[in-house]
Amino acid sequence: MLGAVSIGDTEVNDRTRKTVSSVQMVFQNPFDTLNPSHSIGSQIMRTLEKFGIGDTEDDRRNRMLELLDLVKLPRAFAERMPRQLSGGQKQRIGVARAFAGQPQVVVADEPVSALDVSVQAAVTELLMDIQREAKTTMLFISHDLSVVRYIADRVVVMYLGHIVEQGTTDQIFSPPYHPYTEALLSAIPIADTSVEKQHIVLDGDIPSALNPPSGCPFQTRCPRKAEVGGDLCETEMPPARKLGDGHEVKCHLSQAVFDSMTPVIVLGNKDADTSAKPAAALTSSAAPAKAKAAAPKKKPAAKKPSAAKSAPKKDASPPRMSKPSNPDDLKKIS
Ligand code: SF4
Repeated sequence: MLGAVSIGDTEVNDRTRKTVSSVQMVFQNPFDTLNPSHSIGSQIMRTLEKFGIGDTEDDRRNRMLELLDLVKLPRAFAERMPRQLSGGQKQRIGVARAFAGQPQVVVADEPVSALDVSVQAAVTELLMDIQREAKTTMLFISHDLSVVRYIADRVVVMYLGHIVEQGTTDQIFSPPYHPYTEALLSAIPIADTSVEKQHIVLDGDIPSALNPPSGCPFQTRCPRKAEVGGDLCETEMPPARKLGDGHEVKCHLSQAVFDSMTPVIVLGNKDADTSAKPAAALTSSAAPAKAKAAAPKKKPAAKKPSAAKSAPKKDASPPRMSKPSNPDDLKKIS
């Protein structure tokens, strides 16, 4: 819903200019989202014109220059062509266009995954600065949990189009977890040798979303399926279990199993920072590859990849993964 308008129920052709400008998107690949034949300035001004911003050409030119300021690019870039910009600079233009119509909601679809690691933190920080300043709701879609942990207030974990877990960032990054969330957390590459991490490798490939498995959508790859017993996971879609304070998990595991889960990632002595962040969603396709790539630092107190009847025992209050307060901290865990 956008005010009184249900966007999903409104045909594309029936959407007003105000509705379209209120919901904008930052795309994953900045290299294909700019028209190679037009200058940066003219492309931003075209967006402003389409959204009815500015009464005259001069108004729109001034607003376009302000948008370049907003995304921290020199005003001289208005005359450049897209081929003269780096990937990070192109993505900044994508951000400028998304915020040109003063949107209420911005959907950022993997906005930094196509960028060099060295500019990911800068673009992420830019998005957050603008989001805070403009008080825009942002839906941030990513497979990179280190970015999600930094940026999000609430996290929705999705697998094959199903929401399998949702809650605040602290709830998602601390046990109890949905088994898929556990695997995603295990897949975060961490260079810091003081960090201990469980090593969970998922078997098999992701099933087709057009022909999903029966019962639980994760049942063909779930390492904890044997802990449920019977054929419940194969035959029945699990209900959304409320674990309190808005934390929901879609899984048949018993409360005793949830209670016995231990943190996947245990940091050294790092302080938590829970400053306000926008919402985020995690999608399903990257976990296996990342999980396989992530080698354990030490012999883990790890969960077995499949059919482990007994869950690992809880440590005595180990320090858990906390939110980084600085975007540079992203580099330490990516
Ligand atoms: S319902 Fe069963 S298969 Fe699905 S995530 Fe839970 S334990 Fe795994």
